[in-house]
Amino acid sequence: MKESKIRLRFAPSPTGYLHLGGARTALFNYLFARHHGGLFILRVEDTDRERSTKESIDAIFEGLKWLDLDWDEGPFFQSERLDLYRSVSDRLLSAGHAYRCYCTPDELEERRKAALEKGLPPKYNGRCRSRSTEGSGPHVIRFRHPETSEIVVRDLIRGDLRFDGSLFDDWILVRSDGYPTYNFAVVVDDIDMRITHVLRGDDHINNTPRQIALFETLGESLPFFAHIPMIHGADRTKLSKRHGATSVMSYRDMGFLPQALVNYIARLGWSHKDQEIFTRRELVDYFDLDHVGSSPAVFNPEKLLWLNAQYMKNADPNELAEWVRPLLHPVMNPVRSEGNETQGFDLTKIVDEWKTRSRTLLELADSVHPFIDRDFSYAQDVLEKHLNQANRPLLSLYRERFAAIRTWDRDHLTDVLKTIGTERNLKLGQLAQPLRAALTGQNVSPGIYEVLILLGRQEVIDRLDRALRTIPPET
Ligand code: GLU
Repeated sequence: MKESKIRLRFAPSPTGYLHLGGARTALFNYLFARHHGGLFILRVEDTDRERSTKESIDAIFEGLKWLDLDWDEGPFFQSERLDLYRSVSDRLLSAGHAYRCYCTPDELEERRKAALEKGLPPKYNGRCRSRSTEGSGPHVIRFRHPETSEIVVRDLIRGDLRFDGSLFDDWILVRSDGYPTYNFAVVVDDIDMRITHVLRGDDHINNTPRQIALFETLGESLPFFAHIPMIHGADRTKLSKRHGATSVMSYRDMGFLPQALVNYIARLGWSHKDQEIFTRRELVDYFDLDHVGSSPAVFNPEKLLWLNAQYMKNADPNELAEWVRPLLHPVMNPVRSEGNETQGFDLTKIVDEWKTRSRTLLELADSVHPFIDRDFSYAQDVLEKHLNQANRPLLSLYRERFAAIRTWDRDHLTDVLKTIGTERNLKLGQLAQPLRAALTGQNVSPGIYEVLILLGRQEVIDRLDRALRTIPPET
């Protein structure tokens, strides 16, 4: 096969948001297409009129765009292609490969129950298969499923999968409302869009033999099939809301970077040696199906956090600042940088100091807040532990010594802390924690000297004054 002819599609049903499993299917299709210089097509399978919604279509597009999975053709909407499905079902009807079925839902239900009672599979019994007269009224169109002893799915990930031919009945191609069923529309579209590789979740595996039978009846060659194993939670059951957030966009809202999420889901079921971090270029270069495993991948939120932290650490500080900016709490009383009242704070410099201490953009936004807003608040545990009567003399001493320092630089600041440490017999932790609490309202921050230098003398003194005012009076 010529590489340039490779065509894959992502075919979501718009009945909900884009979840991690869907995003991974999209990503694998995208990477496989890009790796082979092929095309990636987006097709919206919206023929379930009750469950498909416009909101879901928008949410899926938004998710794909956020993950930067751009498609080459489409989006195509199945609901706009009904004429095509009709022409194929007409062709199948006139060739005798399909027939109209007038059995009512009640009749079908009765027969289903009866079959189950006898311990038989609840298949359609073929009553309308050989009617001599055309019926009238509501009907569906059924596929005359060819008699066959076995259907083999040659799966690129799982090898040959054999299905007993007697399992299949005359399934429905077109519902009574004139809409195609999933299996019918998929085959018509995969043919029409010249799809070479069908790469989808293995929850579709039981549909594939039916689709193969239809491809063959239509005289078409088969695409390659590859079914990707499901994603499981830590308890080895299918990933669902019970395991935490599953929607791609909720990861944006929790402060994850799209590059990190893409990297993470790429590794859910695929590997390349023991490499963990991949650029987009590397993913495209290395991705192939040989290293997609056949057992379910396990979703590990801790690992996703770790990856996100790596991406934040390595991000360009200017970009990082732009990502954090919209997440900042409203700034009530902006910090002015020392000596320049109009310039305001330098967010890039601040996030650069903080980025190695935060795992998500939200954590980063929380940490940088005290550096851009003078009206930051003290965490409750910080108040209790550090802004108390016992620390009042120490904080006053800092205020006094910092006001008297000649040059506001690391050497002079180190001298102040060292001297106070010796005078009061305190270790660095004991010296720095109350100071950090007074200056940032937090327990963790970059090094205390970075904090002092970043804030500047006046801001440090103002904050010490505020902290001293905050300490509750002696009772
Ligand atoms: N529309 C199907 C789904 O969202 C995918 C069908 C396919 O890839 O063949 O599960």
